[in-house]
Amino acid sequence: MKAPYIKITPPGPKAKNYLKLDQKYISSGSGVKLLPIVPEYGEGSTITDVDGNVFIDFLSGAGAAVTGYSHPILVKAVQDQVSKIQHSMLGYTYNIQAITLAQRLAEMSPGKQNKKIAFGLSGSDAVDIALKMARFSTKKSWVITFIGAYHGQTYGSASLSQFQGSLKKDMGPFVSNIVAVPYPDPYRNPWGIDGYKYPDKLTEATINYVENYILGHVVPRDDVAMILAEPIQGDGGTLIPPSNFFKELKKICDKYGILLAIDEVQTGIGRTGTWFGIEHFGVEPDIMILGKGLASGMGLSAVIAHKDIADTTNGSLIFTPAANPIVSSAAIATLDIIEKEKLLANSQEVGSLLLKRFMKLLDKYAIVGDVRGKGLMIALDIVKDKKTKEPDREMTGKICWRAFEMGLILPSIGFYGNCLRIVPPLVLTKDLAEIGADIIEQAIKDAISGKVKKATSTWS
Ligand code: PMP
Repeated sequence: MKAPYIKITPPGPKAKNYLKLDQKYISSGSGVKLLPIVPEYGEGSTITDVDGNVFIDFLSGAGAAVTGYSHPILVKAVQDQVSKIQHSMLGYTYNIQAITLAQRLAEMSPGKQNKKIAFGLSGSDAVDIALKMARFSTKKSWVITFIGAYHGQTYGSASLSQFQGSLKKDMGPFVSNIVAVPYPDPYRNPWGIDGYKYPDKLTEATINYVENYILGHVVPRDDVAMILAEPIQGDGGTLIPPSNFFKELKKICDKYGILLAIDEVQTGIGRTGTWFGIEHFGVEPDIMILGKGLASGMGLSAVIAHKDIADTTNGSLIFTPAANPIVSSAAIATLDIIEKEKLLANSQEVGSLLLKRFMKLLDKYAIVGDVRGKGLMIALDIVKDKKTKEPDREMTGKICWRAFEMGLILPSIGFYGNCLRIVPPLVLTKDLAEIGADIIEQAIKDAISGKVKKATSTWS
């Protein structure tokens, strides 16, 4: 597939028709629609839209389509399974594919033996599962989460999210006994610490805040069930904490009998070049949450924990279609593909190629304030001024729009909506990565020179 290939200026006439129908029939709550892309089919890391335009995909459905599109092993697994049996509800009967997958996840995930799995359909409900497990197993109620965290949109996960307050507008009250603390973002943090130069200082400041302010005075410290964190904050803008942060956080957890729950919905399943993002930090979490890429985006999530935490009252974590035989087969195929095709190594190699290219843009362009990433999870932080680090959402939207016109699906993200987000399928080839990086640089140049008249929407 030659990519990119722009046959007609996007969005073309067929796409425009769907944009209208979408606006008429799909709830605005179901999406901000950052990009006017109407996919018809996909192959590898490319998407062909309804008008025949071929895009390179740096989004992979928000990091979910880890094996890309139309992967033959995945296609066969799903086709075979649907022709045998498509549903067998875990709440009533047994399900071979779910059991097989659970065993595999228990064996491959970091942490002690005797792990068990509960399944959901999305990252959001899995976060709710984790919350229930933590409260039930500890008989404690409070949870500490991090500012900038995105955990989902069910009531539990939305309550735990600390991202874009507007998403909670007129929907309260939310789940109680949750308190948010600053995330150790090396680039922008409340203490003004340069976390790249002084990572230990940043860890110390954050841990001190958690222990001496929050546990010291704000919450009843013997009633905290879990601390919930993303190993790298995804929607917050690919924020990578100092390497010692999670070890220090785990010490606090152990000291006060608090569970450490790690939300791997975005970072898990190879995204950062390892199976799980937390592996970069040398810590074994008590609870681990997976979603998105687990079944290559087909509607499966999982919570992994020691059996003493994972076992709750019979039936308290059931969802009718969760881990049905089709999505479980898709997950098994996804894990097989990643292993067979060495996609963890590909995520590392292609990711570092991209990171190196983007690092060069830091010196070249005043609007590129920061570049950060691990594996194929990368962000460019677009600013008005490198010194003040003031986020530039408008410029970000223009860059994304120009990239779209040139055939690259490049979304924006971030706490301030000002980051270019690079989360392509893990099958991305070096060639396509280079073309994508060329397009990003050209889009930056064009946006700076005032050539770009439109902008994509950004989170606000
Ligand atoms: N946790 C994290 C870290 C996420 O990035 C997301 C989705 N962006 C979620 C949870 C929620 O997942 P879902 O949209 O599948 O409910």
